[in-house]
Amino acid sequence: MDEFQQQDRDYDQGKQTNGEEDCPQTYEDFWRSSINQNDERLRDAGKDPYEPLKEPFGKHGNRLKRGLPQDDVYLCYGCAKTTSAKLECCQCLEIFRERASCAANDDWERAFFCSNDCYVNHWEEHKERHGPSTAGPTRMDSRIHEFEAAKGYGALWDSDLLKRLNFAKCVPIW
Ligand SMILES: [Zn+2]
Ligand SMILES: [Zn+2]
Repeated sequence: MDEFQQQDRDYDQGKQTNGEEDCPQTYEDFWRSSINQNDERLRDAGKDPYEPLKEPFGKHGNRLKRGLPQDDVYLCYGCAKTTSAKLECCQCLEIFRERASCAANDDWERAFFCSNDCYVNHWEEHKERHGPSTAGPTRMDSRIHEFEAAKGYGALWDSDLLKRLNFAKCVPIW
């Protein structure tokens, strides 16, 4: 448990930890003090809490919403050619799901490919993406979430065949 969670717990249990200011009387006070604490955490992490939330962009410059292109135009993660949502990297999808389950408004991009060959050909650079990652802190959530690497040989999920295609040539580094 980190210090912030400890304070949350103390607050839940009605304990006074650090004098009056840290023992809010109303929900508004509680909210304000949480935001202030989050701002401090952000500064500690070298981020500017007053910087407006950036709209997430994908690898090839397309706007994202929940990991997908906002305009429904799918660009191949490997070669940037326009493609469809048929072939998706399984490891990236696993990471996306894990991140989305605990980091709200996460901007991790789901990775679609135009063909099996394109996936295999871009594996050397793409495999780096499957390593451990972090999310946060943000103004609404002061925690830094850590995510493990996605393991296993490179694989595409074929949503037409409803089948996982494994590639023996795509040797993982994790
Ligand atoms: Zn491609
Ligand atoms: Zn991937």
